[in-house]
Amino acid sequence: MILVTGGAGYIGSHINKKLHQNGYGTVVFDNLVYGHREAVKWGTLEVGDLSDTDKLEDIFMKYNIDAVFHFAAYAYVGESVKNPQKYYNNNVVNTLHLLDTMVKYNVKHFIFSSTCATYGVPEELPITEEMKQIPINPYGVSKLMIERILEDYHRAYELNYCCLRYFNAAGADPESEIGESHTPETHLIPLILAAAAGDRENIRVFGTDYPTRDGSCIRDYIHVTDLADAHVKAMDYLKNGGESTCFNLGNCTGNSVLEVIGAAKEITGKDIPAVFDERRQGDPPILVGSANKAERVLGWKPQYRDINTIMEHAWKWYCIKRY
Ligand code: UDP
Repeated sequence: MILVTGGAGYIGSHINKKLHQNGYGTVVFDNLVYGHREAVKWGTLEVGDLSDTDKLEDIFMKYNIDAVFHFAAYAYVGESVKNPQKYYNNNVVNTLHLLDTMVKYNVKHFIFSSTCATYGVPEELPITEEMKQIPINPYGVSKLMIERILEDYHRAYELNYCCLRYFNAAGADPESEIGESHTPETHLIPLILAAAAGDRENIRVFGTDYPTRDGSCIRDYIHVTDLADAHVKAMDYLKNGGESTCFNLGNCTGNSVLEVIGAAKEITGKDIPAVFDERRQGDPPILVGSANKAERVLGWKPQYRDINTIMEHAWKWYCIKRY
């Protein structure tokens, strides 16, 4: 049995589905603060918070858990700057509860949802795993702290881990059973689609004076189902005796904000009014990651690399969710 913390959230629910497609049984542990009960369509849902160590122990006693996928974390960069307490308590302290319970119950395999935000502003592109990690916000720091803690827990307690550093997770389940739905929504693609659907007036473009081909920020958008595939491969790798390590998960190619809006116009056939706005604090101009290591070591090959495909799946889900 596999424990998926945060399995009711956007990325966690897609991994939960993929685990089932690969024949694994799962128990999802989620406090449903940001997650959605209806996103847990596979496995068993246990509602609880990682701060509740008694409940956590109950789960480890009740189910025969042999691996943990950890997605339960807060992930709003701006909020992390204003309220770091919330981030360090949940993303660090509560993750420690989880790791300590794993150590206690002798569970050896841990797949950690990390982020390219641990790199901060990169000196070189594309970003590779050995580059310096100097995060520029508490969210990124909280994830990096866990990466460091994992190195020590691995050495001391033989806990095996893969840290998966995502670039910009995007898109939705190609079968439209689950998708992206945040409250509040801050992510580019769902906001663009809301503008396309007429659910908001426009999309604000944060910064048009960056040193990029069209002046807007460039990000590496990676389909959430491709992310899910990498997670299952990472667990199989650990179970086959693979070394604990970190992997970037991205497409090694970037799209600017204006290009993403262009793709959305094409896919939806709608007019999407864009308003040029100030830069958003803490946004590096370009983030593009090399996933060569994941391809080489895990045999991972993203299937849905094209921004139009990503957009098409996201739009299908948006339309279903809306009605
Ligand atoms: N962005 C934007 N308008 C929005 C939301 C995001 O221009 O309403 C930009 C943001 O500045 C960044 C990119 O879109 O360059 C992706 O942002 P998102 O919040 O989706 O992901 P992040 O890169 O912060 O993880």
